[in-house]
Amino acid sequence: MADGICSHIEAITNVVHAKQRVCDECVKTGSRWVHLRTCQTCGATLCCDNSPNRHATRHALATEHPVVASAEPGERWLYCYPDEAFVEY
Ligand SMILES: [Zn+2]
Ligand SMILES: [Zn+2]
Ligand SMILES: [Zn+2]
Repeated sequence: MADGICSHIEAITNVVHAKQRVCDECVKTGSRWVHLRTCQTCGATLCCDNSPNRHATRHALATEHPVVASAEPGERWLYCYPDEAFVEY
């Protein structure tokens, strides 16, 4: 897909999209979120760093799942945590 950004992003051939536009963790606790990201390893959709719980970043660190995609309408980008690599597709 993207050329030469990092091996994690290069390995992605199909972007995994959110099944539902909710944070999988915030819905369990009734928390609010700002933006949503979808993990490209397991498909979990979680909230961004502007959200109180920052579930996407916590998930990436806890699971070592490296890459998320934006789950926001009209946004088409991937971000790799270990490489801090950002690419639009
Ligand atoms: Zn990477
Ligand atoms: Zn959340
Ligand atoms: Zn994951």
